[in-house]
Amino acid sequence: MRVLVTGGGGFLGSHLCEALLARGDTVWCLDNYCTGEPLNVAPLHGDPRFQLIRADVSGLTADFDVPGRVDAVAHLASPASPPDYGRLPLETLSAGSRGTENALRLAERHGARFLLTSTSEVYGDPVLHPQAESYWGNVNPVGPRSVYDEAKRYAEALTMAYRRSRGVNTGIVRIFNTYGPRMRPHDGRVVSTFIRQALAGEPLTEYGDGSQTRSFCYVEDLVRGLVAMLDSGHGGPVNLGNPDECTVDELARLVIEATGSPSVVEHRPLPVDDPTRRRPDITRARELLGWSPRVGLDAGLRRTVAWAVAGRRQGDRTAGEPVEA
Ligand code: NAD
Ligand code: UDP
Repeated sequence: MRVLVTGGGGFLGSHLCEALLARGDTVWCLDNYCTGEPLNVAPLHGDPRFQLIRADVSGLTADFDVPGRVDAVAHLASPASPPDYGRLPLETLSAGSRGTENALRLAERHGARFLLTSTSEVYGDPVLHPQAESYWGNVNPVGPRSVYDEAKRYAEALTMAYRRSRGVNTGIVRIFNTYGPRMRPHDGRVVSTFIRQALAGEPLTEYGDGSQTRSFCYVEDLVRGLVAMLDSGHGGPVNLGNPDECTVDELARLVIEATGSPSVVEHRPLPVDDPTRRRPDITRARELLGWSPRVGLDAGLRRTVAWAVAGRRQGDRTAGEPVEA
């Protein structure tokens, strides 16, 4: 296939580009690097089937196109971690609205499959547990997380409107917390933060009492799900995530164990509207896509730690400590 990946220079996007190239696809990676990192896709530059477009998906003009046929558009471009969308609130709303529409229009023009990477955040602080796709969610529309949550909810509505009224072959996945190599050590997300702190021998900053839960999916599993959804004709939404739920405190203990770190846990105030619990019901992904995760949290954390340690040794900016300008 010939695939346009918006946000292809980010954490998930770069793994998706790599997976598509590995199976023989041609990939255009569109990114403005507002939260991504050129080094994420640097190893792909030698591949003649890989092209990079540095652009803001929200600012694409009507005549923007990529040369030749496009079979699929995977729309990942959006700030994704709470500190990132807190720092870029208007850009996040634009990526979900104008950016999504620009990507949808391009897919429509080419008769291409369109994949929206939505999020478990559409469920907000869920009242139902675990979360199935039939649950409509519990989102605070004016809280600090709303720029992300509502942008994604709008993006889902827009995607369904293009499917119903314009016949575009769209699919929506709702991604639950995913981790792995290439997470920015300073992106503020819990796995990258805990690993960075543990490797530096610093205290792990646990927000609240650490009893809130998340369900962490290893990136390799997640990308396999993205590709399966891209290749299918399903409209979704389909949850993609690992249903193994753990508390943030349990995660801290696992990271300390995986790193062999002397770090201790320190408590900090819980951010406003931090969801209390989250676990995907993945029945739909199993039935429609034959997908389920294979990598457990222990194994995934060890792989992620190994990558971060290697990066620290090499002074790689995509892992370990950031390089001063
Ligand atoms: P990321 O920040 O690493 O990647 C996002 C990429 O999009 C970055 O490279 C960034 O520079 C790019 N981008 C942002 N706005 C852009 C714009 N206007 N124009 C062009 N490029 C732009 O985050 P990620 O974790 O890789 O997330 C990728 C997608 O998956 C996002 O849409 C996110 O909402 C979704 N998602 C991720 C998770 C997760 O746990 N990682 C969970 C749910 C949903
Ligand atoms: N968290 C934490 N310490 C940190 C960063 C995050 O305890 O240094 C908590 C955060 O409050 C939340 C969970 O870890 O309860 C997951 O946070 P993350 O930002 O990774 O994802 P999200 O909240 O978007 O699910």
